Amino acid sequence: MIVNVASELKLAGKTSGRHFEEEMAPIDLGTHKLVFSMPLILDITYAYDGEGFNVSGVLSSELLMNCTKCNKEFHQEFSVDFSERFIKASEEEAEELDCYPFTGEILDLDRMVLDLLILNAPAYGLCKPDCKGLCPKCGADLNTTQCSCTKPSVHSGFAPLEELAQLLKDEEEV
Ligand SMILES: [Zn+2]
Ligand SMILES: [Zn+2]
Repeated sequence: MIVNVASELKLAGKTSGRHFEEEMAPIDLGTHKLVFSMPLILDITYAYDGEGFNVSGVLSSELLMNCTKCNKEFHQEFSVDFSERFIKASEEEAEELDCYPFTGEILDLDRMVLDLLILNAPAYGLCKPDCKGLCPKCGADLNTTQCSCTKPSVHSGFAPLEELAQLLKDEEEV
């Protein structure tokens, strides 16, 4: 994602805006993979202040993920607000000042976008807040079935009384 800033460089203080929409290939981050189920959307405003560019905006998309509890695929939206600075400097100098470098009349946003994704894109999640997960014994999806492992064990006739006694005991201990 590249912005030509030739006109802004001549007009310090002028605020411009750009909208990007880009299909993203999966990004392998080592610990996990980002798989995009929607285009990546980047909205920025930027202005030159005589020394560098202040670039702020919103980065958003939707990821295809596997639920950490039941492993089902689900879609997870995310949206990141950011504010970064680009300066005309070498990569090392820019890094020291916690900025991104730019050369000539071009702002290359790719590295900033990758950094924002690494820091902010969700790495894991649940298919729904109350996902019941899989049965640890038989592997059944407890959201859709109740396997026999999880059915309450058969009680003797006095079970309810025993439970009540246990309940009272618990209360005493609190
Ligand atoms: Zn789940
Ligand atoms: Zn089971």
